[in-house]
Amino acid sequence: MPDVVFPLDSTKKFTDQKYVGHNRWHPDIPANVTVRPGDSFRVHCREWFDGAIHNDDSADDVRDAPLSTVHVLSGPIAVEGAAPGDLLVVDILDVGPIPQEDSGPLAGQGWGYTGIFATQNGGGFLTEQFPDAYKVIWDFSGQTATSRHVPGVSFTGIVHPGLMGTAPSADLLARWNRREQALIDTDPDRVPPLALPPLPQDAILGTLAGAEFDRAAAEAARTAPPRENGGNQDIKNLTKGSRVFYPVFVDGAKLSMGDLHFSQGDGEITFCGAIEMGGFMDLHVDVIKGGMETYGVGENAVFMPGNVDPRYERWLAFSGTSVTLDDEQHYLDSHLSYQRACLHAIDYLTKFGYTPEQAYMILGAAPIEGRLSGVVDIPNSCSTVYLPTAIFDMDITPSASGPARIDPGMGVPRSSF
Ligand code: ZN
Repeated sequence: MPDVVFPLDSTKKFTDQKYVGHNRWHPDIPANVTVRPGDSFRVHCREWFDGAIHNDDSADDVRDAPLSTVHVLSGPIAVEGAAPGDLLVVDILDVGPIPQEDSGPLAGQGWGYTGIFATQNGGGFLTEQFPDAYKVIWDFSGQTATSRHVPGVSFTGIVHPGLMGTAPSADLLARWNRREQALIDTDPDRVPPLALPPLPQDAILGTLAGAEFDRAAAEAARTAPPRENGGNQDIKNLTKGSRVFYPVFVDGAKLSMGDLHFSQGDGEITFCGAIEMGGFMDLHVDVIKGGMETYGVGENAVFMPGNVDPRYERWLAFSGTSVTLDDEQHYLDSHLSYQRACLHAIDYLTKFGYTPEQAYMILGAAPIEGRLSGVVDIPNSCSTVYLPTAIFDMDITPSASGPARIDPGMGVPRSSF
């Protein structure tokens, strides 16, 4: 096992650990660990809400999820010799849940969760149809996930970090803040908001303190969106065996990671949409000097996906076009067409006895595939969502005998109001 350079003690809060990580992006957050090109090392990662979500049958914790505290990230890890303009090569040697035999109180200790955020607190891809908070607990057995809240489904996890990236330069951070504020200004009162401006409340910036902390907290970027530095890309195929090439914007690159997922469907559509957990990552790093210019990689990270994939061979796919539920025509709107494809799949699964929330959770957590199938055939884009048929205990393909019916059991716990 590689040396643990960023350890976390499961019994302590994120801010009481030996090394305190961070939950905002800022170039001045000091690295708390330094590694060398060629090093392999282990990092522990907290689940993104630092233990605020519990293994129970109530969604009140998701309703009240402390969004100002996310994502709790491990790092920054400085890589000796890395300088602006370089590419940081990061190999994911291994990634998994908290290595512990007994199930414990933290997500990652044998279990994880998927949530639907309430429109008032985060929202999600289908928040118009699902405005309330719900939660599903998934149990892990080896590579397999099952849930007491979603009977008749089991699938192989595709473990990956939702979030990994390098620190932005001061200039890049200023660009993020400028362009995201300009978007917010187009509709500042929107619920959920169009973007999240810097928020000093609940900011954790490693060892920064005093006036330095106050200055940085006022401008540090939230971690929710993916940006040029990688960040919260939520790419389910960034699993074991992946190699990522991150642009370097500051000396030492300052790599950070977290938001581990046991599994996720393309799009992470419920927003809290993967199976969230804490765990570990084994990484190997290297540097390509001047690689950003040499390879023209400045816009964002490029990566080679891992070769670990659930081997599903048969799929039932649903398509959607850029037409609203009220039959209003939109122009090549792939976001809308993917929504329609997902709603189509959810409607279909309810014919088998699932509640709409159960179906929505399956699409968020299981290794479904989402595709932009057509983006040029005016006025309709065509998006598709592929469901692996083998994750269901019953046959979900259409047949003359009609759909089998499942007992939805207790269903998906909804929050009280
Ligand atoms: Zn996540």
